[in-house]
Amino acid sequence: MKLETLKEVSPFTMLQLETCARCAHCAEYCPVYDVLKKPQVMPGGRVSVMLKIIKSGVNPWFALYRSKTNKLNEIENYVENVYNCALCGRCMAVCPFGIQTDILWELFRKIVYRFNKHPPVLKEVDKFILSTYNAYGVGNDARSMWVDYLGLDNAKINERSDVVYFVGCTSSFKAVAQDIAYATSLILNHARLSWTLLGEDEWCCGAPLLMIGDEDGARKMAEHNVKAIENLDAKLVVSACPGCARTIKQKYPSLIGRALRFNVMHVMELLDLYIRKERMPLKGIEKESALVTYHDPCELARLSGVIDEPRHVIHAVTFSFREMPEGKKDVRCCGGGGILQAVNDELRLSIAEKRVRQAQALEAEILTSACPACKITLMDGLKKIGVKMQVLDVTELFARKLGLM
Ligand code: SF4
Ligand code: SF4
Repeated sequence: MKLETLKEVSPFTMLQLETCARCAHCAEYCPVYDVLKKPQVMPGGRVSVMLKIIKSGVNPWFALYRSKTNKLNEIENYVENVYNCALCGRCMAVCPFGIQTDILWELFRKIVYRFNKHPPVLKEVDKFILSTYNAYGVGNDARSMWVDYLGLDNAKINERSDVVYFVGCTSSFKAVAQDIAYATSLILNHARLSWTLLGEDEWCCGAPLLMIGDEDGARKMAEHNVKAIENLDAKLVVSACPGCARTIKQKYPSLIGRALRFNVMHVMELLDLYIRKERMPLKGIEKESALVTYHDPCELARLSGVIDEPRHVIHAVTFSFREMPEGKKDVRCCGGGGILQAVNDELRLSIAEKRVRQAQALEAEILTSACPACKITLMDGLKKIGVKMQVLDVTELFARKLGLM
């Protein structure tokens, strides 16, 4: 049996595990606990079990079998609970002891994966990402098909440029999110940037693989994408997917073992910068008069600190804006993260329902966000409760109000 994973647990991580007081303060902020109300999904509960198996120093599954309190179904429950988490980071933000739960949740999934105990559906997802290089298991040569059928003229694919637009799997393949790719492209054109797509040379950013626990797979994606980007001498990578942007910016350097030779920005950061520096032509804007609200993507607000930028962009194109409760750094997750759709879609939808009801209570007419996964999840949540409300990515709202689409 391989025990390397357990040896990889650094003293810093052990300190985090030992410091967690299992006080349950974070549980009241956890969107998963809010729905399931089971003590096993409380962050502290997960920590207790993992600490026990790490300290045992033997195959953790054997350790759990051997222990007096755990039976087979408890082991299965534990695995289920490791993946019943949206990886939204809210527990980390509210923890009075400053426990970096994001590191712990990633480690737990890595251990489960190493022992091949991850759920069968994730084994499938892992397999097809590694073979097709995208999260939807289709031929990666279809990655830029949206360019043709949305009619984007003169799009450069894999050409030397200052900027690489990293589209991400969801905006490349999911019809409802392809408008985000289209809007972003029109905005980059409007800002007169020299930019290119990577086409089929864009592989999954690796975030879903990290969420499964497959770090080696994520490294393979990172190495390929970095090479493809650096071959074009690009100075900047822009993405409208906060998951891709964060993975490339925050995770790639440690995955590939060196610094990146380019900067990374979410498109909201770029757009805000260009508006503030008056480098984005705003002539002809027809401001939106309907009531707009904004759902902060966890990956963008809490985990990347991009909070004011999308609000500046929204204010540039709207008359009427109302903040959602539990927003900004304290955002309540929509349920779209942590590969929850594959693992427990019912849970994802229940979390989404709670979030869209907050937008409904505001009497918002347009619910915006800045993430393709959030857009899809918010739309699914509204469908679940039978409420009609327009859901738009901020890029779409901006491009529409500027008359670009
Ligand atoms: S992570 Fe922090 S808030 Fe949550 S149980 Fe542990 S010590 Fe308490
Ligand atoms: S990351 Fe989010 S969903 Fe996961 S345990 Fe923490 S608060 Fe709950």
